[in-house]
Amino acid sequence: MKVAALSGGVGGAKLAEGLMRTGADLTVIANTGDDFEHLGLSVSPDIDSLVYALSGLADRERGWGRANESWSFMGALGALGGETWFNLGDLDLAMHVLRSERLAAGEPLSAVTAGFLGRLDVTARVIPATDQRLRTLVETESGRLAFQHYFVRERTAPRVTGFAFEGAEAARPAPGALEALQKAERIVICPSNPYISIDPILAVTGYRETVRDAVCVSPIIGGKAVKGPAAKMMSELGLEPSSLAVARHYRGLIRALVIDEADAHEAAAIEAEGVRAIVAPTLMAGPEDAERLARIVLEA
Ligand code: GDP
Ligand code: CA
Repeated sequence: MKVAALSGGVGGAKLAEGLMRTGADLTVIANTGDDFEHLGLSVSPDIDSLVYALSGLADRERGWGRANESWSFMGALGALGGETWFNLGDLDLAMHVLRSERLAAGEPLSAVTAGFLGRLDVTARVIPATDQRLRTLVETESGRLAFQHYFVRERTAPRVTGFAFEGAEAARPAPGALEALQKAERIVICPSNPYISIDPILAVTGYRETVRDAVCVSPIIGGKAVKGPAAKMMSELGLEPSSLAVARHYRGLIRALVIDEADAHEAAAIEAEGVRAIVAPTLMAGPEDAERLARIVLEA
């Protein structure tokens, strides 16, 4: 089955790995709103989470970055007075150095990413939302923050009032992304943060018009995010954190939402929004869980 999925980093990558394990012909369109330049390097956190998950290199315990990672570089960097708020592991560094070199030589991010996947023997495709500059800005009560400053340096503490996606209007979908959505027999919206992982993709001209009848897995279980600020953001935006809020957020784009068994009582309200509610275990503790959930998404 031809499957196209929209994904952020860690949460999305878990389902992407599950989808790959079903044997689906998978194309993942990755959020690039988190990308930034740090220490002279081009960092693409969500692409890397996907590449590491799909290639089996991810650290499952820590939940981000590479397994068997070491941190000598960070130690040496700090000793010299460098900024240490954003962790770059020794192994992870190879990705950033090589990507930075290739981007500086004029290679588009989509080609750089495809090159890495090829080297790592991953047959699924990961296409950046765009090859152009896209930057998520978080509007907070303490002002507008660049995404990584909000997320990592401020540890998501400031109260959120809104979001802006700098560059989205001028950006174009990367080569192959819209085609993958058009040819897909199933479009999936991964259980990623709707505001900071999926909305930046949808903000790029062309995606919102092309995503239709998608099946989404809710990132909210029992009124809480499994990880990260999705539920906190909902509260700060004046919404009750729930899968119902997720269904409303994606109105017009999805035809089904997979919600956790813990939220079965929300099914009727979700269906009243015109979205089919599919109740299933949605917590992915490992690749077997992810594959089981992926099969439910594909059968929906
Ligand atoms: P990030 O870019 O690394 O922050 O990752 P994503 O946006 O792709 O994923 C973050 C979201 O994944 C959070 O809102 C979590 O609630 C959700 N999430 C993480 N693990 C799981 C899981 O096992 N099941 C479900 N349903 N959601 C999950
Ligand atoms: Ca992210």
